[in-house]
Amino acid sequence: MENVCALAGASNQGSSTIASDTPQEPFTSKKRQMCELCGRPRNICLCDTIAPLPSVPRFGILTHPREARKVQNTGRLAHLCLTNSVYCEGVDFTEDATVNEVLADPRLVSYILYPDENAMDLSIMSSTEIWEVFGERAMFWVVDGTWNNAGKMIRESNNLKDLPKVAFSPPQQSRFAIRKQPKEFCYSSIESIAYIIDRFSCRNGLVTTDSSKQADLLMRVFMRMVDMQIECEENRRLSHQSSVSTNHIEYDTPDV
Ligand SMILES: [Zn+2]
Repeated sequence: MENVCALAGASNQGSSTIASDTPQEPFTSKKRQMCELCGRPRNICLCDTIAPLPSVPRFGILTHPREARKVQNTGRLAHLCLTNSVYCEGVDFTEDATVNEVLADPRLVSYILYPDENAMDLSIMSSTEIWEVFGERAMFWVVDGTWNNAGKMIRESNNLKDLPKVAFSPPQQSRFAIRKQPKEFCYSSIESIAYIIDRFSCRNGLVTTDSSKQADLLMRVFMRMVDMQIECEENRRLSHQSSVSTNHIEYDTPDV
C-alpha cells in the first residue's frame, strides 16, 4: 500500500488516512492535460526525472485501483524507474496472468512485503544474511494501497497470501510530507522499494554502484514529487490568502 507494507510489526489498523485523493496543485482545471506515462498532470509531470534502470532484487507492484487513480501514487513511479519490475492493478490477483507468470518463473523466488508476526525483518539482517537468505533470485511484491485495502488484497489473492512475508522498520520518518501516514514511520511504496534496494547494495563487503544508483534514482523522483506538491500547496495557500484579502477590502468599503 502506499505506506503500509513496509512496516515490521505494524498493525493493520483503521482506514486510509490519505490526506486527499485529488491533485492539490492550484491551477487545476477540468480539462487538465495528463501525461500518459507517469499519469500525472502535465504541469507536474515527472518523466524528465526518471532514468529507468533494472534492479536487484526485482519488484512486483500490486496497486489497488483507488490508489492507481491518485496523482501522488508512488507505486507507478517506482515501476517507471525500474525496467525489470512488474506493475499490476487490481484487488484479487488470483487469476492475474502477469502475476501468475512471474510466480511460476523458476528463476525467481517471491516474497511479499507485508508486516505480520512471521515476517522476516530486513532491518535486523546483515548484508551477508540478506544475500544468503534472498540472493539474486528474490522477487518482492509490494502492495500499493491503504492498510485496509492491502490486507484485503492479500487475503483475496490465493496465489499471494501464502508467500513468505518480509517487513522492515523504517530508519527514519517518511519524507512523504504531503500525505498523512497511518503511523509515524510508514513509508510510501517508492521509499520502501528504495530501502530494500539499498539493503541489497552491499555484497561481500562491497557496495554495488548499480544498486546505489537505483536507490538514488527512486528517492530523487520521490523527492521531486514531494517538492512539487509542497510548491503547489504553498501557491494555493497564497492564492487563498490573496482571495480572502480582496474580499475583506470589498466588504469594508462603505456603500456610497
Ligand atoms: Zn510524465
